[in-house]
Amino acid sequence: MEAIAVREGETAPELIERPQPEPAAGEALVRTLRVGVDGTDHEVISGGHGGMPAGDDYHILGHEAVGVVEDPNGTDLAAGEIVVPTVRRRPNGSNAFFDRGEPDMAPDGQYHERGIVGAHGFMAEYFTSPAEFLVSVPPELVEYGFLVEPISITEKAVEHAEASRSAFRWEPESALVLGNGSLGLLTLAMFEQEFERTYCLGRRERPDPTIDIIESLDSTYINSNETPVSQIPDQYEAPDLVYEGTGHAKHPFEAIEALAPNGVGALLGIPADWEFEINGGKLHRELVLHNKAIIGSVNSNVGHFEAAVETLGSLSESFLEDLVTGIYTLDEYEAAFSTDDKTIKNAIQFSSYEER
Ligand code: NAP
Ligand code: BGC
Ligand code: ZN
Repeated sequence: MEAIAVREGETAPELIERPQPEPAAGEALVRTLRVGVDGTDHEVISGGHGGMPAGDDYHILGHEAVGVVEDPNGTDLAAGEIVVPTVRRRPNGSNAFFDRGEPDMAPDGQYHERGIVGAHGFMAEYFTSPAEFLVSVPPELVEYGFLVEPISITEKAVEHAEASRSAFRWEPESALVLGNGSLGLLTLAMFEQEFERTYCLGRRERPDPTIDIIESLDSTYINSNETPVSQIPDQYEAPDLVYEGTGHAKHPFEAIEALAPNGVGALLGIPADWEFEINGGKLHRELVLHNKAIIGSVNSNVGHFEAAVETLGSLSESFLEDLVTGIYTLDEYEAAFSTDDKTIKNAIQFSSYEER
């Protein structure tokens, strides 16, 4: 079968030939339909994040997949069922975080992430997975099923942000998303359903397709070149929730000040090292005197994937059509990794659902 991988020492993906995997006991064989590309894939390709599976000199990419069960192999799944795989796997043997269904809370070294760190990903014509990590998706959502994984990332972040505000009556009205990449825009579409007012910060000038999407969602675009995060409370309002999806390491610190009293900031970006000066005393005081919280959030578990399937079904078709800028065949895989300003969310198609 064909797979898309990055070879050791290389910084571009290529098509490789691999044997079709055999499911072990408890695993199903899945025929891959589509796999999405996100910022993390680019970081894996460049070597900035993640790492190769031990003993291999290539790494099959991809962690945002949707597929169809080809061989249930004695599991509770049915042949033909549409499934989305979660990302984390036990590194070896038993693991308390996995045993209680919270692999997303496992510390470094106690997990592999398929397509990211220590394990091959889903950009192959077939993959195997323990059935416990396959989440069922209804046929009407198959086309955009590769968005379940990134949506699940926000389901988790919001769950944790809300949990941090659960000790008092928190009635948030406004949310600010930092970043107009695919994760930021997906999150904005989710927030539009929950908050009275939403804002999305980017650094693009008009005309730009992401700004069009933000405005089609009835949200307000904030250009960071004109209005830095620190000026948002004066020019717009102090948001109750800030969701950071830029990976710009100054944003969390600016967000502490921009937040409304009792607000919470959820950090998702994964920046490289960057040293800069901050007024630590001011930020410390701001957190304490205004009961603010900052949380970090990574990955997601089966419960978040199930919530994400529901959320995907609630997103408008027109938003999804605008967000997904390209579906590429295996022969065109290189185009799926382009990063120009017209690209928002791309996916690679490995096979069709209708083919069965
Ligand atoms: P992405 O496509 O690279 O999106 C990042 C967006 O932020 C881009 O649109 C970029 O604008 C914008 N941006 C960057 N710096 C900015 C600045 N200084 N001011 C305004 N806008 C700025 O990545 P993504 O896939 O959406 O993911 C977003 C971040 O979340 C990445 O850091 C990724 O690694 C991380 N992530 C984390 C998790 C998790 O579990 N925690 C899961 C998925 C992704 P331009 O396009 O104009 O450059
Ligand atoms: C993935 C997560 C993963 C994170 C850190 C994200 O792009 O969606 O599942 O935990 O990267 O590797
Ligand atoms: Zn991702």
